[in-house]
Amino acid sequence: MANIKTGIEWTDRTWNPTTGCNKVSPGCTYCYAEALTKRFPKNFPNGFNLTLHHERLEQPRRWRIPSRIFVNSMSDLFHEEVPISFLQEVFEVIRQTPWHVYQILTKRHERLLELAPLLSWPENVWMGVSVEKQDYVTRIDYLKQVSAHVRFLSCEPLLGALQLDLKGIDWVIVGGESGQKYRPLKIEWVQDIREQCKDAGVAFFFKQVGGRTPKAGGRLLEGQIWDQMPEAWKHHQQQWEGYSVKATRKTDQAGMIASVQR
Ligand code: SF4
Repeated sequence: MANIKTGIEWTDRTWNPTTGCNKVSPGCTYCYAEALTKRFPKNFPNGFNLTLHHERLEQPRRWRIPSRIFVNSMSDLFHEEVPISFLQEVFEVIRQTPWHVYQILTKRHERLLELAPLLSWPENVWMGVSVEKQDYVTRIDYLKQVSAHVRFLSCEPLLGALQLDLKGIDWVIVGGESGQKYRPLKIEWVQDIREQCKDAGVAFFFKQVGGRTPKAGGRLLEGQIWDQMPEAWKHHQQQWEGYSVKATRKTDQAGMIASVQR
């Protein structure tokens, strides 16, 4: 259960240089990562304890097709036990693999802001925070102070109506909770966020209604699928369309960048 093709609609694959976490807010209550860890204990010998996987750092270099990569579906990259030196290594891999886009999502907005000046922010980092309830909109203020090229919000599992200040935000993902104990979504919460996105000119993505299974409620909102992506994604696709990474890499002067070819 390391780094896999994924069913998450807004990304192409996941990369988990760390696994394990601790719960920090109501969105964590039925944490999907924790449930997977319990279901597949052989794949997670350290359980849900924060674990660094140095051996996974090189993986994205081997993924030859330009992809959207969700960083840490099984953890939170800005967890307090992830050392800054490890974070810097992760960001360096990102910088050296510009054919991918990396979608990093955190609930640890304070540590994100604290460490952001110590990291380089290449264009292919999309940085996001989770906002599941109005009590956590302050995470957006922290995100806005980070020099990411694309900033996004994940309002999933959406647990209440939200009033969002979307200035400086490029993308909003909304989704209802799934699982046996799911907390039901009110469709008017979603409609309201979609209207706020429309008014602010922000891309809106509706992932799922939710229910006992992820697909139980479907993905339709007023009979329509909402799959909008940030403008930066279109530009990225245009830039890297038709490119694939050579299996044998050359290095540049700094010994870092993989060569690409059509
Ligand atoms: S921050 Fe994410 S990975 Fe960590 S416990 Fe909460 S939902 Fe799970």
